[in-house]
Amino acid sequence: MGHSIETRVRNAVEAWLRWLPGWQPPTHRSRARVCRRCFGSPLTEAAGFGPDVPHAVQHALIMRLNAIVEHSVDAYTERNLPLLWRELRDAEARKRARPYRPADGLAPEYQGLELDPEPEPGQPFLFTLADLADDAAAEHRLPDPAPLSDEAKTSLRYEMALADDEATRVGMDVCLELMTFRPRIQQAVHEVVEPQIEALLSELTRSLDVPGGLL
Ligand SMILES: [Zn+2]
Repeated sequence: MGHSIETRVRNAVEAWLRWLPGWQPPTHRSRARVCRRCFGSPLTEAAGFGPDVPHAVQHALIMRLNAIVEHSVDAYTERNLPLLWRELRDAEARKRARPYRPADGLAPEYQGLELDPEPEPGQPFLFTLADLADDAAAEHRLPDPAPLSDEAKTSLRYEMALADDEATRVGMDVCLELMTFRPRIQQAVHEVVEPQIEALLSELTRSLDVPGGLL
């Protein structure tokens, strides 16, 4: 058995608190697309992030917490769900056979984000990292897996439902534990994030407030 959920959540929050002082508000236009990992996640709610907290700040914590849930579900699957475990291992082997994997080895704060920035209208990219990975994969494709029998499909669906239940259980544990860190998270946002945003805003105001300016 590894560490308890309690220890893992504490480690994740502490790693995020160490990361936070290096964060800087983005000076460029932010992405319009909503992040599927953060938006509406019960973890975001449990962390107590308000709507004004910049996405990058939230994402860096949410991805560290997501990893706790994913590792727990993996361990549960390995122990209890042999069919699903084999499917996941095969899928993993196929992924590893890909020669170019731009999403591999990223720090938590960069995981789960789009690989490429959104294209500007009328200015398509010549190529994108996602296309490059797909092309490379197409050339090195492993043979397709043997199709499953109906019986095997039913068993697999049952195991997937069990894995889902486990993810819900662990997710709730992580949320409950995370709520005990809310004051520290909110204090860090107050001390580290808010002053940077205020500085950025007053900089903006100053640059508009020159003679002949807009204000
Ligand atoms: Zn996110």
